[in-house]
Amino acid sequence: MNTNKSGPQENIDLGNSKVVNIRDKFDNKTKEILAKRVGYLCSNPDCKNTTSGPHTDPKLTINIGVAAHITAASPGGPRYDSSLTPSQRRDSSNGIWLCQNCSKLIDSDTNYYSKDLLQGWKHNAENHAKQLIERELNQGWATTLPEYFESLISLELTTSPPIGRNIGQSSDGQFWLVLWDSRNAKYQWSKITEKYAEQELQSVCKYRNVTNWQDLFEK
Ligand SMILES: [Zn+2]
Repeated sequence: MNTNKSGPQENIDLGNSKVVNIRDKFDNKTKEILAKRVGYLCSNPDCKNTTSGPHTDPKLTINIGVAAHITAASPGGPRYDSSLTPSQRRDSSNGIWLCQNCSKLIDSDTNYYSKDLLQGWKHNAENHAKQLIERELNQGWATTLPEYFESLISLELTTSPPIGRNIGQSSDGQFWLVLWDSRNAKYQWSKITEKYAEQELQSVCKYRNVTNWQDLFEK
């Protein structure tokens, strides 16, 4: 008769209980991809905390970031989606980079912190990181305008020079001078005063036969 040498429990197939032990975890490579795609910032738009920094040991770093699952790694977990295969479940597309606090927060109310909400967070956090890095690389020039620009009024009435000038207004009411480099398809923007916006837009008002310059932003 064989005596049980009590090997590792996870090797024993006990039917249903085996399923409980399976978690489709992210590997280290996937975690690194998720962190780097958002510049190591928490993807919660109300948080955006940095998750990485220096340790007192100069050879070490501190990481308070978590590669959280958008839909859970195992059955019964938050937002679990049974239609995904195990490899889809541990794919970077099912992950979101968060700080430790926010990773707990999203599992505290899965009705509110839904799959759609988290995917939106992830999308915006990646866009934000992209904009930051493009601004660095191109010394102020970016390929996309932030979503907070609600309208742009071109100051070029008849010609289209290589660098076009526009007056923009952001959702918070702030005015901006927005330059558009048509050859490289890139934008640059800087804050301006309301007075400056008004002065610059006088010729546009005349051209479009508009009395009040602020009406230009109505449409
Ligand atoms: Zn956070």
